[in-house]
Parts: sequence; structure tokens; C-alpha cells
Amino acid sequence: MLTIKQRQLNLRTYYYFYKGNIDGIVGSQTKQAYRDFQRFTGLTVDGIYGKNTNYKLIEVIKDLQRKLNSKGFNLAVDGIVGNATISAIKTFQRNNGLAQDGIAGKNTFNKLNNTPDTSNKYRYPVNYINITQYYSSSHRALDLGWSSRYYGSNQAIYACFDGTVTVNSYASDAGYYVAIRHDNGDVSRYMHLKDKSWVKVGQRIGKGEHIGTMGDTGNARGNHLHFDLTKNGSRVNPIDYLYVYSGQVVSDKCKSVVRYI
Ligand SMILES: [Zn+2]
Repeated sequence: MLTIKQRQLNLRTYYYFYKGNIDGIVGSQTKQAYRDFQRFTGLTVDGIYGKNTNYKLIEVIKDLQRKLNSKGFNLAVDGIVGNATISAIKTFQRNNGLAQDGIAGKNTFNKLNNTPDTSNKYRYPVNYINITQYYSSSHRALDLGWSSRYYGSNQAIYACFDGTVTVNSYASDAGYYVAIRHDNGDVSRYMHLKDKSWVKVGQRIGKGEHIGTMGDTGNARGNHLHFDLTKNGSRVNPIDYLYVYSGQVVSDKCKSVVRYI
């Protein structure tokens, strides 16, 4: 069985169930922590620290330690919270923009459990995301605008995914534009660029690579990026395929319509 002090430390670190001092005394706060922990983990809620509660309290900390190790830490998976575990939690919290309290609560577990596979996900082609015109039958694309608060009217345009440049040209409606064929056959196009892009037809491009500058060439009213995506020969709504990556800023009115990686 864990010592009382160790139980208190485990229960404090795990979802802050124990809020008192680590004093080795079973008082009302410790008993409350036993009950809260039992309820949370589906054990019989009797406030008594028995074999099952002890086993579970070690297992949840082992699980936490394994999750931290999967993020690059190197903790002993012993189910015992010590300085190394608390320090790893704090480092993980700092690296993920969370409050560094050394307690593995809901936000920390959400981040620990979040292992997105970004390998097949498209990113928005601009770093300030403000959709000014949505996809419709008469506009089978997304228009992305700009803000003087972020990057200004000549935002950098980035490839939404790895691929090969198939077009770098000028057309009266599209203005300067670039098309990229992706390895799965999809094609993305970036229109109304400020100037002719520096990319070369046939050149390999990586996801997130800078390919041009937002402008208003061709049939554009004001600076914006007209972005379209073709899948299996049909123009699709890009909003269903694009993801916001960390570091990209979304305008307030678009926060609820975009997807996040
Ligand atoms: Zn458009």
C-alpha cells in the first residue's frame, strides 16, 4: 500500500483531488479525495482506502507516466508521483501553453491524449484566416482576406500540402496564379497573386512552403486569395478539407466554422 503522504501526492497530482497539505494525516480533505477519486474511476464510493483504491491510484499514475514518456520524457513507470513526474508535467504544460501547476487535470490530459496525425491534412494557405466569401454553386472556392492587424494586405501564401507545381501563369480572371497537383491527385489553386510566383512548373513543393503573395491581379475586387481544391476531378468545398495549424490566427467570425488540427 502507498504511504498516506504518497497517496496525498498522487491524489493531488491526479486531477487535484487532494487539496490539502502533504502531511500524512487522514483528515476530512484526504477522505474527500478518496471519495472523489473512487467516484471518478468507477470504484465503490466508501471513502475507505482499500486494496482496489490503492491499485487504481498506482495505475492512473503509471498511465500518466507512460503518456508523458510518449511525449519524450523518460520517467520510471512506477505509479509513484515524485519530483521527476511533477517536473515533467510542468515542462509539458509549459510547452503546450498551459498553466504550469504540475497537476495533471483535464487540460493536461487533453493535450497528452491529443496525438493528431497531420500527415494527410491540408493546412490553410494563409496564416491569418478570414474567409470573406464561402463556397457556393457560383463560387466554388474560398476567398481569404487580410487584416492590417496581421501581416497586412500582402499576406504570404503557402502551399496547403505537398505536391508538384503544374501551373505558374497569368489569366485575365485569375490574375497571377499557381496550381499544385498533390500526390493523391488533388489539385489546389491560388489566384490573384500580387506578382508572378517564383515557383517553377515541375518543382516539388512541401506543405507550408511559401509560394507567393496575396494581391488583386485579374478579376479581383481588392486584395484576397481565391483558393480552390479539386478532388477526383470535381471542385470541392475547401472548408471541408483545410485545417488550422498551430500558429495560424483565425478571425473572430470564422472561429466556429474552421477545423483545427
Ligand atoms: Zn473567389
